[in-house]
Amino acid sequence: MIIQSIETFDVAVPLTKPFKTALRTVTTAYSVYVKLTTKEGSTGYGEAPPTHVITGESMASIRYAINEIIAPQLIGLDVMDSERVFQKLNASLVRNTSAKAAVDMAIYDLIARQSGYPLFQYLGGYRDTLETDFTVSVNDPVEMADDAERYVKDGFHVLKVKVGIGDIKEDIARIQAIRERIGNKPKLRLDANQGWNAKEAVRAIRTMEDAGFEIQLVEQPVPAHDIEGLKYVTDCTDTPIMADESVFSIHDAKRVLEMRAADLINIKLMKSGGIYNAKKINTLAEANGVACMVGSMIETKLGITAAAHFAASQPNIQFYDFDAPLMLVSDPLIGGVIYEGSKITFSKEPGLGILRLKRVGG
Ligand code: MG
Repeated sequence: MIIQSIETFDVAVPLTKPFKTALRTVTTAYSVYVKLTTKEGSTGYGEAPPTHVITGESMASIRYAINEIIAPQLIGLDVMDSERVFQKLNASLVRNTSAKAAVDMAIYDLIARQSGYPLFQYLGGYRDTLETDFTVSVNDPVEMADDAERYVKDGFHVLKVKVGIGDIKEDIARIQAIRERIGNKPKLRLDANQGWNAKEAVRAIRTMEDAGFEIQLVEQPVPAHDIEGLKYVTDCTDTPIMADESVFSIHDAKRVLEMRAADLINIKLMKSGGIYNAKKINTLAEANGVACMVGSMIETKLGITAAAHFAASQPNIQFYDFDAPLMLVSDPLIGGVIYEGSKITFSKEPGLGILRLKRVGG
């Protein structure tokens, strides 16, 4: 199982509606796909989207990291010595976590395919069904209520609402408009994407608590670097607070956990550098009594499939944010996870179960 080649392909798929957060507006999902091949002809697939405002990576930087830096160090290694391969991958360059994640998931795909089992079973096989939320982009309150109503009608029981733009009064008006429209039954999780400061966050969250908006959790209320601010929000509110952009690495997780700066952690393969590191972050969180979500960037079904297999395999991962493929006008691949409304299931195919890449001819 000697790694013979690691190739990259570009993919671009338009979104059906612009995805808007406090950090960015996305109209097309761009990604670099990775195909890893062994001397025996076995293959594994991975994906890395360029999320400039979160990981700092671009299409060009991802291609360069994989083709010019990572591939030369991994070619010739035996994937069955996976610890050595992952050590090399992680030491090959600092940061560039999405580039590393694409190669990491291709390695896991390949090893699990070799085992004959779907990746979630290879990793532990804890769950065989997941329920994803659906994201309401940040817009004016009426448009957000319209969107929320439509998503609930489409069968989503959990909505992730993007806030953090403008005055906190506007954010409160957004949630009020949504609650008035859809009632209190659907679960609402908020994501401020770093858009508040610590005091604004406490005021916004406490106001929503007092108004009875029943918010399940609030993601990343404050800037990523402001761990003390994150702790202040966690200490001063009753609503569970989730760290997202503040936690890329296991070292970030260790600091947040030691300070009890958040109640929950959102693990994304594109921040951790793949499943190898994500497993460690989840284990550390579990040991500290902190449950995790697995989420994604704006990715196609390839990256989401890897994230979903990982999430399903870990009891401590209790929240799932895998709606990105549902926002795309088309699916660039055949195989991978199966969507049925908000439900995600797994095929019996080994590894990630990717049968064919439609757009890149793989
Ligand atoms: Mg988030």
